[in-house]
Amino acid sequence: MSTGSADNLARLYSELLVLLAQEEEIRKSTEEKLARAKSVIDPRKEFNKWLQSNAGKTWKQKQFQYQEGKCAACGESLRSADAVVHHVLPLKDFGSAANKPENFRLLHPGCNLEIGTKIVDFS
Ligand SMILES: [Zn+2]
Repeated sequence: MSTGSADNLARLYSELLVLLAQEEEIRKSTEEKLARAKSVIDPRKEFNKWLQSNAGKTWKQKQFQYQEGKCAACGESLRSADAVVHHVLPLKDFGSAANKPENFRLLHPGCNLEIGTKIVDFS
């Protein structure tokens, strides 16, 4: 092997390393973008984010007063700290469309568990 072709080989090899590193960077950044996009459209995450927001907290207080401190399912009194937000139309079937305050009721954690994803008429 002449010195010339060894140099060529070394150059090709270093170019290959650069390409591989670039590819790895692109792959990582694509993964990050995908993860961000997923978290934006994940309806459960979207809901949790809303619930932690001022709008969500304010809604919960108002809804608690509107329900006169009672569980929408069993009608028994409910402690504000215990109240969980129930999706009348379940998130799993309706996705982001179920994330609307008019679709929410405050329930005892136990009542919420019992109902699960069954659709109940609370009116
Ligand atoms: Zn209840």
